[in-house]
Amino acid sequence: MVDQATIDRLRAAAHAAGSVACYPRYSGFRVTAAVLTATDDVYGGANVEVVNYSLTKHAEETAALAAIAAGALQHGDAWLRAVYVHTAAPCGSCRQFLWEFAVHDAVVVIDRRDGQVTQQRLAELLPDPFDPSELPDRRIKGTSEDS
Ligand SMILES: [Zn+2]
Repeated sequence: MVDQATIDRLRAAAHAAGSVACYPRYSGFRVTAAVLTATDDVYGGANVEVVNYSLTKHAEETAALAAIAAGALQHGDAWLRAVYVHTAAPCGSCRQFLWEFAVHDAVVVIDRRDGQVTQQRLAELLPDPFDPSELPDRRIKGTSEDS
């Protein structure tokens, strides 16, 4: 599980992201998140809503994408060690999204509205997941500069 100092770092990153990047224009429901990477870095995110709703990005997604944009994949596909979410458990879609990049014992820290902070393994929240190992890896190696 995650120690208190790490939770504090994740909470601070989530809060910082929430203060500049939260865009709950339609629901008014503010969600912030942060991820812990293989290199012990933290990246925050917040929900960003889009008028048609289905294109809305959840806080867990934007936090993970911030880490990816900063180079998290340079340390392997499974770089996500922990995710912190305030104020609700990750939805099913986010559980699958996070699973794509999670180490096998990745931890989900949920900082609930009532102040309770709980920790669970992502594997417990997403039992019997659709795993990347179930599909062939069709990446072409060594072309990361191509686009
Ligand atoms: Zn979600």
